[in-house]
Amino acid sequence: MRAAVTRSFGETRVEEWPDPKAGPGEAVVRVEACGVCSGEGLPWYVNRKVPAVLGHEVVGTITEVGKGLSDGFVGTRVFAHHHVPCGECHFCRRGFVTNCKLFRETALDPGGFAEYMRVPAENFSRDTLTLPKEVPVEEAIFLEPMACSIRALKKLGDRPGDSILLIGLGVMGLLNLLIARSRGFKTIIGSDFIKERREVALRLGANAVVDPAGQDLRGEVEAATDGRGADAVIVGPGTPEALRAGLDAVAPGGTVVQFTPTPAEQNLEVDTHRFYFSELTLTASYSCGPEDTREALEIVSSRELPLADLVTGRFGLDGVDAAMRLIGEGGAHLKSIILPSL
Ligand SMILES: [Zn+2]
Ligand SMILES: [Zn+2]
Repeated sequence: MRAAVTRSFGETRVEEWPDPKAGPGEAVVRVEACGVCSGEGLPWYVNRKVPAVLGHEVVGTITEVGKGLSDGFVGTRVFAHHHVPCGECHFCRRGFVTNCKLFRETALDPGGFAEYMRVPAENFSRDTLTLPKEVPVEEAIFLEPMACSIRALKKLGDRPGDSILLIGLGVMGLLNLLIARSRGFKTIIGSDFIKERREVALRLGANAVVDPAGQDLRGEVEAATDGRGADAVIVGPGTPEALRAGLDAVAPGGTVVQFTPTPAEQNLEVDTHRFYFSELTLTASYSCGPEDTREALEIVSSRELPLADLVTGRFGLDGVDAAMRLIGEGGAHLKSIILPSL
Protein backbone atom coordinates (compact mmCIF):
# COMPACT_ATOMS: atom_id res chain seq x y z
CA MET A 1 0.00 0.00 0.00
CA ARG A 2 0.97 3.68 -0.07
CA ALA A 3 1.56 5.77 3.03
CA ALA A 4 2.64 9.39 3.53
CA VAL A 5 5.78 9.25 5.66
CA THR A 6 6.81 12.45 7.45
CA ARG A 7 10.55 12.70 8.20
CA SER A 8 10.30 16.23 9.58
CA PHE A 9 7.77 19.07 9.33
CA GLY A 10 7.49 19.93 5.62
CA GLU A 11 9.25 16.73 4.53
CA THR A 12 6.61 14.13 3.78
CA ARG A 13 6.81 11.65 0.93
CA VAL A 14 4.44 8.97 -0.29
CA GLU A 15 6.20 5.61 0.08
CA GLU A 16 5.40 1.96 -0.39
CA TRP A 17 4.50 0.40 2.95
CA PRO A 18 3.81 -3.24 3.89
CA ASP A 19 0.08 -4.05 3.77
CA PRO A 20 -1.25 -4.25 7.35
CA LYS A 21 -2.51 -7.65 8.53
CA ALA A 22 -5.09 -8.20 11.24
CA GLY A 23 -3.85 -10.18 14.26
CA PRO A 24 -6.16 -11.63 16.94
CA GLY A 25 -8.85 -9.11 17.90
CA GLU A 26 -7.58 -6.61 15.34
CA ALA A 27 -9.05 -5.05 12.23
CA VAL A 28 -7.65 -3.64 9.01
CA VAL A 29 -9.40 -0.49 7.82
CA ARG A 30 -9.30 1.06 4.36
CA VAL A 31 -8.93 4.77 5.07
CA GLU A 32 -11.69 6.81 3.47
CA ALA A 33 -10.55 10.15 4.86
CA CYS A 34 -8.39 11.55 7.62
CA GLY A 35 -8.61 15.08 8.97
CA VAL A 36 -5.43 17.09 9.42
CA CYS A 37 -5.23 17.98 13.11
CA SER A 38 -4.40 21.54 14.20
CA GLY A 39 -1.47 20.01 16.14
CA GLU A 40 -0.07 18.76 12.83
CA GLY A 41 0.44 22.41 11.88
CA LEU A 42 2.92 22.91 14.74
CA PRO A 43 6.47 22.11 13.55
CA TRP A 44 7.82 21.45 17.08
CA TYR A 45 4.95 19.05 17.79
CA VAL A 46 5.36 17.14 14.53
CA ASN A 47 9.15 16.95 14.87
CA ARG A 48 8.98 15.08 18.17
CA LYS A 49 6.98 12.27 16.53
CA VAL A 50 8.95 11.74 13.30
CA PRO A 51 9.63 9.65 11.33
CA ALA A 52 5.94 8.79 11.31
CA VAL A 53 2.81 8.31 9.30
CA LEU A 54 0.68 10.98 10.96
CA GLY A 55 -3.11 11.37 10.90
CA HIS A 56 -5.51 10.36 13.64
CA GLU A 57 -8.90 11.88 12.72
CA VAL A 58 -9.72 8.90 10.65
CA VAL A 59 -12.75 7.31 9.06
CA GLY A 60 -12.74 4.15 6.97
CA THR A 61 -14.19 0.75 6.17
CA ILE A 62 -13.14 -2.53 7.76
CA THR A 63 -11.68 -4.86 5.12
CA GLU A 64 -10.30 -7.65 7.32
CA VAL A 65 -10.66 -8.89 10.90
CA GLY A 66 -8.40 -11.13 12.95
CA LYS A 67 -9.19 -14.22 15.03
CA GLY A 68 -11.91 -13.70 17.62
CA LEU A 69 -13.83 -11.04 15.67
CA SER A 70 -16.92 -11.77 13.62
CA ASP A 71 -16.63 -11.56 9.82
CA GLY A 72 -19.77 -9.44 10.09
CA PHE A 73 -17.52 -6.46 10.83
CA VAL A 74 -16.11 -6.51 7.30
CA GLY A 75 -17.69 -3.71 5.28
CA THR A 76 -18.56 -1.69 8.41
CA ARG A 77 -17.72 2.03 8.30
CA VAL A 78 -15.95 3.08 11.46
CA PHE A 79 -14.13 5.75 13.38
CA ALA A 80 -11.11 4.29 15.19
CA HIS A 81 -9.51 6.26 18.00
CA HIS A 82 -5.70 6.35 17.91
CA HIS A 83 -5.29 6.31 21.72
CA VAL A 84 -7.37 4.32 24.23
CA PRO A 85 -7.28 4.30 28.04
CA CYS A 86 -7.44 1.15 30.22
CA GLY A 87 -10.45 2.38 32.21
CA GLU A 88 -9.11 0.88 35.44
CA CYS A 89 -5.94 2.66 36.54
CA HIS A 90 -5.67 5.46 39.10
CA PHE A 91 -5.90 8.18 36.43
CA CYS A 92 -8.74 6.52 34.49
CA ARG A 93 -10.82 6.14 37.67
CA ARG A 94 -10.39 9.82 38.41
CA GLY A 95 -11.39 10.88 34.89
CA PHE A 96 -7.89 11.76 33.66
CA VAL A 97 -8.06 9.13 30.92
CA THR A 98 -5.58 10.91 28.67
CA ASN A 99 -2.93 10.46 31.38
CA CYS A 100 -3.45 6.67 31.41
CA LYS A 101 -0.32 4.70 30.51
CA LEU A 102 -2.20 2.64 27.93
CA PHE A 103 -3.54 5.85 26.34
CA ARG A 104 0.02 7.06 25.73
CA GLU A 105 1.19 3.65 24.43
CA THR A 106 -1.61 2.81 21.99
CA ALA A 107 -1.65 3.97 18.37
CA LEU A 108 -3.10 3.13 15.00
CA ASP A 109 -0.63 1.41 12.66
CA PRO A 110 0.84 3.16 10.79
CA GLY A 111 -1.54 6.17 11.00
CA GLY A 112 -4.38 7.78 9.08
CA PHE A 113 -2.34 9.25 6.21
CA ALA A 114 -2.16 5.86 4.49
CA GLU A 115 -4.36 3.71 2.27
CA TYR A 116 -4.92 1.14 5.02
CA MET A 117 -4.26 0.91 8.73
CA ARG A 118 -4.27 -1.76 11.40
CA VAL A 119 -6.47 -1.11 14.42
CA PRO A 120 -4.85 -2.92 17.38
CA ALA A 121 -7.12 -5.08 19.56
CA GLU A 122 -7.20 -2.57 22.40
CA ASN A 123 -8.15 0.31 20.10
CA PHE A 124 -10.74 -1.88 18.41
CA SER A 125 -12.45 -3.09 21.57
CA ARG A 126 -12.31 0.18 23.54
CA ASP A 127 -12.89 2.99 21.08
CA THR A 128 -13.85 2.00 17.56
CA LEU A 129 -17.32 3.25 16.69
CA THR A 130 -19.66 2.26 13.89
CA LEU A 131 -20.72 5.24 11.80
CA PRO A 132 -24.29 5.59 10.56
CA LYS A 133 -24.43 5.28 6.76
CA GLU A 134 -26.10 8.66 6.32
CA VAL A 135 -23.23 10.62 7.88
CA PRO A 136 -21.03 11.89 5.04
CA VAL A 137 -17.30 11.46 5.38
CA GLU A 138 -16.73 15.24 5.55
CA GLU A 139 -18.80 15.33 8.75
CA ALA A 140 -17.57 12.03 10.18
CA ILE A 141 -13.92 13.16 10.23
CA PHE A 142 -14.89 15.70 12.93
CA LEU A 143 -15.54 12.97 15.49
CA GLU A 144 -12.11 13.07 17.14
CA PRO A 145 -11.60 16.85 17.14
CA MET A 146 -15.16 17.38 18.36
CA ALA A 147 -14.55 14.89 21.17
CA CYS A 148 -11.59 17.08 22.20
CA SER A 149 -13.94 20.09 22.34
CA ILE A 150 -16.48 18.11 24.35
CA ARG A 151 -13.81 17.18 26.88
CA ALA A 152 -12.65 20.80 27.21
CA LEU A 153 -16.21 22.05 27.69
CA LYS A 154 -16.85 19.33 30.29
CA LYS A 155 -14.01 20.77 32.34
CA LEU A 156 -16.17 23.88 32.63
CA GLY A 157 -19.30 21.99 33.72
CA ASP A 158 -22.81 23.04 32.77
CA ARG A 159 -22.90 26.79 32.61
CA PRO A 160 -26.35 27.97 31.55
CA GLY A 161 -26.36 31.74 31.33
CA ASP A 162 -22.60 32.09 31.59
CA SER A 163 -20.31 33.83 29.16
CA ILE A 164 -17.35 32.25 27.42
CA LEU A 165 -14.42 33.72 25.54
CA LEU A 166 -12.81 31.62 22.81
CA ILE A 167 -9.30 32.81 22.00
CA GLY A 168 -8.46 31.58 18.51
CA LEU A 169 -11.16 30.86 15.94
CA GLY A 170 -9.48 28.28 13.79
CA VAL A 171 -11.39 25.07 13.27
CA MET A 172 -10.94 23.99 16.91
CA GLY A 173 -12.12 27.37 18.22
CA LEU A 174 -15.17 27.06 15.98
CA LEU A 175 -15.90 23.52 17.22
CA ASN A 176 -15.54 24.83 20.78
CA LEU A 177 -18.06 27.52 19.85
CA LEU A 178 -20.60 24.98 18.56
CA ILE A 179 -20.21 22.77 21.65
CA ALA A 180 -20.29 25.76 24.03
CA ARG A 181 -23.57 26.83 22.48
CA SER A 182 -25.03 23.34 22.94
CA ARG A 183 -23.96 23.33 26.59
CA GLY A 184 -25.87 26.48 27.43
CA PHE A 185 -23.33 29.27 27.35
CA LYS A 186 -25.37 32.38 26.74
CA THR A 187 -22.78 34.91 25.67
CA ILE A 188 -20.08 33.64 23.34
CA ILE A 189 -17.23 35.95 22.44
CA GLY A 190 -14.59 34.94 19.90
CA SER A 191 -11.18 36.47 19.34
CA ASP A 192 -8.90 36.01 16.34
CA PHE A 193 -6.49 38.11 14.28
CA ILE A 194 -7.99 36.73 11.05
CA LYS A 195 -11.05 38.50 9.71
CA GLU A 196 -12.46 35.53 7.76
CA ARG A 197 -12.46 33.42 10.91
CA ARG A 198 -14.25 36.09 12.91
CA GLU A 199 -16.91 36.19 10.21
CA VAL A 200 -17.41 32.42 10.33
CA ALA A 201 -17.70 32.63 14.14
CA LEU A 202 -20.46 35.21 13.85
CA ARG A 203 -22.29 33.02 11.33
CA LEU A 204 -22.01 30.07 13.73
CA GLY A 205 -23.60 32.02 16.56
CA ALA A 206 -20.90 34.06 18.34
CA ASN A 207 -22.47 37.08 20.03
CA ALA A 208 -19.39 39.24 19.59
CA VAL A 209 -15.98 38.95 17.98
CA VAL A 210 -12.76 40.78 18.74
CA ASP A 211 -9.70 41.58 16.64
CA PRO A 212 -6.92 41.59 19.23
CA ALA A 213 -4.65 43.51 16.85
CA GLY A 214 -6.87 46.56 16.72
CA GLN A 215 -9.06 46.20 19.80
CA ASP A 216 -8.51 45.85 23.53
CA LEU A 217 -9.55 42.26 24.29
CA ARG A 218 -10.30 42.78 28.00
CA GLY A 219 -12.27 45.94 27.21
CA GLU A 220 -14.34 44.27 24.50
CA VAL A 221 -15.06 41.26 26.71
CA GLU A 222 -16.15 43.59 29.54
CA ALA A 223 -18.44 45.42 27.12
CA ALA A 224 -20.14 42.12 26.27
CA THR A 225 -20.44 40.91 29.89
CA ASP A 226 -21.70 43.88 31.93
CA GLY A 227 -18.14 44.70 32.90
CA ARG A 228 -17.45 41.33 34.56
CA GLY A 229 -15.16 39.56 32.10
CA ALA A 230 -15.79 36.08 30.73
CA ASP A 231 -16.93 33.34 33.13
CA ALA A 232 -14.91 30.86 31.09
CA VAL A 233 -12.10 31.11 28.56
CA ILE A 234 -10.76 28.47 26.21
CA VAL A 235 -7.31 29.39 24.95
CA GLY A 236 -6.62 27.96 21.48
CA PRO A 237 -3.12 29.15 20.58
CA GLY A 238 -0.43 27.21 22.44
CA THR A 239 1.51 30.21 23.74
CA PRO A 240 2.02 31.81 27.15
CA GLU A 241 0.89 35.13 25.60
CA ALA A 242 -2.49 33.70 24.65
CA LEU A 243 -2.87 32.17 28.12
CA ARG A 244 -2.05 35.52 29.68
CA ALA A 245 -4.68 37.18 27.52
CA GLY A 246 -7.15 34.56 28.75
CA LEU A 247 -6.31 35.14 32.41
CA ASP A 248 -6.59 38.87 31.83
CA ALA A 249 -10.09 38.62 30.34
CA VAL A 250 -11.61 36.09 32.78
CA ALA A 251 -14.22 37.17 35.34
CA PRO A 252 -13.92 36.59 39.09
CA GLY A 253 -14.71 32.94 39.77
CA GLY A 254 -13.90 32.09 36.18
CA THR A 255 -11.95 29.26 34.58
CA VAL A 256 -9.30 29.38 31.88
CA VAL A 257 -8.66 26.20 29.87
CA GLN A 258 -5.39 25.63 28.03
CA PHE A 259 -6.50 23.75 24.92
CA THR A 260 -3.24 23.44 22.93
CA PRO A 261 0.20 22.36 24.11
CA THR A 262 3.13 24.73 24.26
CA PRO A 263 6.67 23.57 23.51
CA ALA A 264 8.67 22.37 26.53
CA GLU A 265 10.04 24.92 28.99
CA GLN A 266 7.57 27.70 28.33
CA ASN A 267 6.63 29.59 31.44
CA LEU A 268 3.59 31.60 32.29
CA GLU A 269 3.70 34.58 34.61
CA VAL A 270 0.51 34.93 36.61
CA ASP A 271 -0.72 37.93 38.57
CA THR A 272 -1.08 35.88 41.74
CA HIS A 273 -2.73 38.73 43.64
CA ARG A 274 -5.62 38.84 41.20
CA PHE A 275 -5.56 35.03 40.83
CA TYR A 276 -6.13 34.69 44.58
CA PHE A 277 -8.66 37.41 45.25
CA SER A 278 -10.67 36.63 42.09
CA GLU A 279 -10.56 32.89 42.84
CA LEU A 280 -9.57 31.99 39.32
CA THR A 281 -9.06 28.47 37.97
CA LEU A 282 -6.46 27.57 35.35
CA THR A 283 -6.77 24.09 33.90
CA ALA A 284 -5.90 22.15 30.74
CA SER A 285 -7.66 19.76 28.41
CA TYR A 286 -5.52 17.29 26.48
CA SER A 287 -7.08 15.12 23.78
CA CYS A 288 -10.22 13.06 24.50
CA GLY A 289 -11.41 9.66 25.72
CA PRO A 290 -14.03 7.05 24.81
CA GLU A 291 -16.86 8.84 26.62
CA ASP A 292 -16.16 11.98 24.61
CA THR A 293 -16.03 10.18 21.26
CA ARG A 294 -19.40 8.56 22.02
CA GLU A 295 -20.93 11.95 22.77
CA ALA A 296 -19.37 13.32 19.60
CA LEU A 297 -20.83 10.44 17.60
CA GLU A 298 -24.29 11.36 18.90
CA ILE A 299 -23.84 14.98 17.86
CA VAL A 300 -22.33 14.13 14.46
CA SER A 301 -25.11 11.57 13.84
CA SER A 302 -27.79 14.18 14.56
CA ARG A 303 -26.45 16.10 11.53
CA GLU A 304 -27.57 19.36 13.10
CA LEU A 305 -24.23 21.15 12.90
CA PRO A 306 -22.86 22.65 9.66
CA LEU A 307 -19.65 20.63 9.96
CA ALA A 308 -19.02 20.00 6.27
CA ASP A 309 -18.84 23.81 5.77
CA LEU A 310 -15.65 23.82 7.84
CA VAL A 311 -13.80 21.58 5.37
CA THR A 312 -11.86 23.94 3.11
CA GLY A 313 -9.05 21.74 1.79
CA ARG A 314 -9.03 18.29 0.15
CA PHE A 315 -5.77 16.56 -0.68
CA GLY A 316 -4.48 13.15 -1.71
CA LEU A 317 -1.65 11.43 0.20
CA ASP A 318 0.84 13.53 -1.76
CA GLY A 319 -0.74 16.69 -0.32
CA VAL A 320 0.03 16.05 3.36
CA ASP A 321 2.81 18.68 3.53
CA ALA A 322 0.71 21.27 1.74
CA ALA A 323 -2.21 20.57 4.10
CA MET A 324 -0.01 20.81 7.19
CA ARG A 325 1.48 24.11 6.03
CA LEU A 326 -1.96 25.58 5.35
CA ILE A 327 -2.81 25.35 9.07
CA GLY A 328 -0.28 28.03 9.96
CA GLU A 329 -1.24 30.26 7.07
CA GLY A 330 -4.64 31.42 8.24
CA GLY A 331 -6.81 33.28 5.76
CA ALA A 332 -10.09 31.63 4.93
CA HIS A 333 -8.62 28.17 5.50
CA LEU A 334 -10.20 26.03 8.23
CA LYS A 335 -9.97 22.22 7.93
CA SER A 336 -8.09 20.05 5.50
CA ILE A 337 -8.79 16.40 4.91
CA ILE A 338 -6.60 13.77 3.28
CA LEU A 339 -8.42 11.44 0.91
CA PRO A 340 -6.06 8.55 0.02
CA SER A 341 -8.15 7.74 -3.07
CA LEU A 342 -7.50 11.18 -4.63
ZN1 LIG B 1 -6.47 15.83 16.47
ZN1 LIG C 1 -5.94 3.80 32.68
